[in-house]
Amino acid sequence: MSNKTVYALFCTLLPFALQAQSPLKSQITKTADGLEKKVVAWRREIHQNPELGNREFQTSAKVAAHLHSLGIEVKTNVAKTGVVGILKGGKPGPVVALRADMDGLPVTERGNLAFKSTVTTEFNGQKTGVMHACGHDSHVAIMMGVAEVLASVKNDLKGTVKFIFQPAEEGPPAGEEGGAQLMVKEGVLENPKVDAIFGLHINSQTEVGTIKYRPGATMAAVDFFSVKVKGKQTHGAAPWSGVDPIVTSSQIVMGLQTIVSRNLPITEFPAVVTVGAVHGGIRQNIIPEEVNMIGTIRSFTPEMQQTIHRRINEVATNISESAGAKADVKIDVMYPVTYNDPALTDQMVPTLEAVAGKDHVHIRPLDTGAEDFSFFQQKIPGFFFFLGGMPKGTKLEDAAPHHTPDFHIDESGFGLGVKALCHLTVDYMEQWKGAGTASVKKK
Ligand SMILES: [Zn+2]
Ligand SMILES: [Zn+2]
Repeated sequence: MSNKTVYALFCTLLPFALQAQSPLKSQITKTADGLEKKVVAWRREIHQNPELGNREFQTSAKVAAHLHSLGIEVKTNVAKTGVVGILKGGKPGPVVALRADMDGLPVTERGNLAFKSTVTTEFNGQKTGVMHACGHDSHVAIMMGVAEVLASVKNDLKGTVKFIFQPAEEGPPAGEEGGAQLMVKEGVLENPKVDAIFGLHINSQTEVGTIKYRPGATMAAVDFFSVKVKGKQTHGAAPWSGVDPIVTSSQIVMGLQTIVSRNLPITEFPAVVTVGAVHGGIRQNIIPEEVNMIGTIRSFTPEMQQTIHRRINEVATNISESAGAKADVKIDVMYPVTYNDPALTDQMVPTLEAVAGKDHVHIRPLDTGAEDFSFFQQKIPGFFFFLGGMPKGTKLEDAAPHHTPDFHIDESGFGLGVKALCHLTVDYMEQWKGAGTASVKKK
C-alpha cells in the first residue's frame, strides 16, 4: 500500500474512529452483553414472586443482597420497602440517580409461562391474583444488571451513582404513604445530593429494540375526585315528595363532560375527566337519599388542572343546588406531570441514539397515563423514557396493554435497557461541567 493510499484510508476511517465508543463504554457494552442471561433469570424469579406496593419484602431483600455482593453501599427500608445503593466512582463528578420501581398489581395472570405467577392475596376486601402486569419486574432486573456493570468499572467512573429501587409506584395501600413521593420526603435525593435522575419503563406495545421518549410534558398529572349527592329519599311512585339524587347525578355526569369540551384550551394540551363509578339506590321503587360517584382527572399544565378542579366543584354544586340537592365534592391531588427537563433531554438523546441506533429512537405522543417518577423530576432534572418490550412483528392490536391479565414482555429487549442506563450515566458524568451549567439547569 502506498503512503497516499494509507492516507486516503485514514481520512475515510477517521470519522468512524471518532464516533467509536470510548474504551470505558466499549467495556460497559461488553459486560452488559455478557449479563443478559442473568438479567432474564432475575426477571423470571421476580415475575413468579410478585408483591404489591409497600409489601415488596422478598424483592427488596433480593436487590439488597445483590448490591451488597457488588460492594455497593446499601440502605434498606427507605420509604418502607425501598432500597438505595450508592456506588462511589474512582474520580470526582456529579451524582446520577437511576430509578427502578418494584411493585406488582392485583391482576390474575393468564397464559402459560413456565414462570407464571400463582400468587394470590386479598386486595380491598377481594381475593385476587398478583401479577407483574406493568413490567416493574423487568425494571428491577435491568437495574440489577446496570448495578453489576457499573460496579465492574467503578474506578473509572467520574462521579457517584445512586440506585433507587422504589416501592409502590402504582400507589400505596389505602391509608399508607409510599412511592416516589415518600422517598423524596425521606430525602432520597440528598446525601449525596443528586444532580440528575434517569428512569425507564418497559412497554408492551413498543417493539423490542426501540426507545421512545418525549421532551417536556410526557405523562399526565393525575387527580382523583369524588362527588356525594345528597337528596331526599322517597317512594319511587311519588318523586315529587323527595329530591332525586339519581337524576341529579346523571345531570352532573353530563355536565362534567363539558369541562374538557367547553372550558379548556385544548389546542395546547389534551385533558381527561372520567367518571369511573356511580353508586346509588337499592330497589326499583325507592328513590334513594344519596348517590356517590368517583372519577379521575388527567392534565398537563397547572392552569388546566386548576380550571378542571374549579369547574368540577361549580358543576356538581350548582346542578345539585338547582335540584334542591347538596353536593359534597372532594379532589385528591395525586401525581404531578412527568416532565422531561428539555435541556437534559437534548443532552442525552444522542446517547440513546448511539446505543439503539438512530432509526430506533422516536418521539412518542403525549400519554394520559401517569408515573410517580414525576415527584423526582419536581425536585431535580430528570429524563424518563420507554423501552420496547413487544415481540418483533407483533401487530399493535395483538399486544396486551399494561395492567391486563395477558400482559407480556419480550425479554430480548432487556439488554438495550441495561446498556441505555449505563451509557446515560457515563455520558452524563463525562459531559459534566459542574452544578448550575446550562445542561443541568433546574426547572
Ligand atoms: Zn402501571
Ligand atoms: Zn408501571
